[in-house]
Amino acid sequence: MKLAARVGKVSPSLTLVISAKAKAMKAEGLDVCSFSAGEPDFDTPAHIKEAAKKALDEGKTKYGAAAGEPKLREAIAHKLQKENGLDYQAENVIVTNGGKHSLFNMMLALIEEGDEVIIPAPYWLSYPEMVRLAGGTPVIVSTNAATGYKITPDRLRASITPKTKLFILNSPSNPTGMVYTPAEVKALAEVIVENDILVVSDEIYEKILYDGAEHLSIGAVGSEIFGRTIISNGFAKAFSMTGWRLGYLAGPVELIKATTTIQGHATSNVCTFAQYGAIAALTQPQDCVEEMRIAFAARRQVMFDSLNAIPGLSCPKPNGAFYLFVDITKTGLKSLEFCNKLLDSHHVAAIPGIAFGDDDCIRLSYATDMASIEKGMTRLEQFVLNVT
Ligand SMILES: *Cc1c(COP(=O)(O)O)cnc(C)c1O
Repeated sequence: MKLAARVGKVSPSLTLVISAKAKAMKAEGLDVCSFSAGEPDFDTPAHIKEAAKKALDEGKTKYGAAAGEPKLREAIAHKLQKENGLDYQAENVIVTNGGKHSLFNMMLALIEEGDEVIIPAPYWLSYPEMVRLAGGTPVIVSTNAATGYKITPDRLRASITPKTKLFILNSPSNPTGMVYTPAEVKALAEVIVENDILVVSDEIYEKILYDGAEHLSIGAVGSEIFGRTIISNGFAKAFSMTGWRLGYLAGPVELIKATTTIQGHATSNVCTFAQYGAIAALTQPQDCVEEMRIAFAARRQVMFDSLNAIPGLSCPKPNGAFYLFVDITKTGLKSLEFCNKLLDSHHVAAIPGIAFGDDDCIRLSYATDMASIEKGMTRLEQFVLNVT
């Protein structure tokens, strides 16, 4: 069979591959400590499940509007106004099958052959692949631990060419957990406005912050940047709703209309009764979000302390998301070899940094129980002592 050329431009998601291998080992009865999955280990809060069940019982089982249930679009617009200082109405919002889908739809609506999209590395592994699938060219700008894995305004400015269409900002970041300060966000906004490009801000981890870190949504910096901003967000991380497949895109009406047309031919609306769970998530008390954040904070501390006590490994202290991005240079191994050996010999699953554009690091997720973290860190130490 001759497959379309576009398939050859992308590779399968390495995070999903390693997670699947770890799962298969677990199914065989092996005791695997898994730090690979990018999802909270908590169950979805009960009131959200109840709202979806009620909608199901009430017969909310039919096709809905492609852009989403009007009530949910309104609730999202309200959230963006109130929490993020973004002047959006329901018409500025489309509900999508997860944050991943919102980004993909947006790329299809915006990017074409010859367009360059600036992506700071380490990056979430789907960004460059989405750009390629849309026909554009990812322009990867590497960063390192010395700058907190953040792109500086000068690096951004230097990467812009006449072909640059879009800059992807992800704060808090997956895979590094780093958070841009409000001052850093403002400085990047200036460069974007000066050069008249667009920015998509992936804010899926905005609620998962530590040590007083503050999330500033770039569109709230001023009216000039607001018109050049697209927001991607979703329910997966803050509300532990990964399997529900619920996200959204917000931006200029013109773009939202275009993504709605695309979505109307691809998936139509997101599962109707699931959307009622999302309405409950946004409109009911937010205690569940804070409870999960507090649990993540305690795990982060334990994992960070044990990890930096291992000779040969180091990582900066992240103040967001639920990942540590660990420098393995001193072990002499590259990331894929490190992760494969670690999983095979010590039954610890981690994601090789090469998946995120940095082969000298690995990503560990602490969205798992404390006992697994303690056991896994001991195994990791034994592994590193053996290989170095
Ligand atoms: C998890 C994640 C998303 C979206 O995930 P969905 O499950 O599709 O909502 C988007 N961006 C980043 C960086 C993520 O880690």
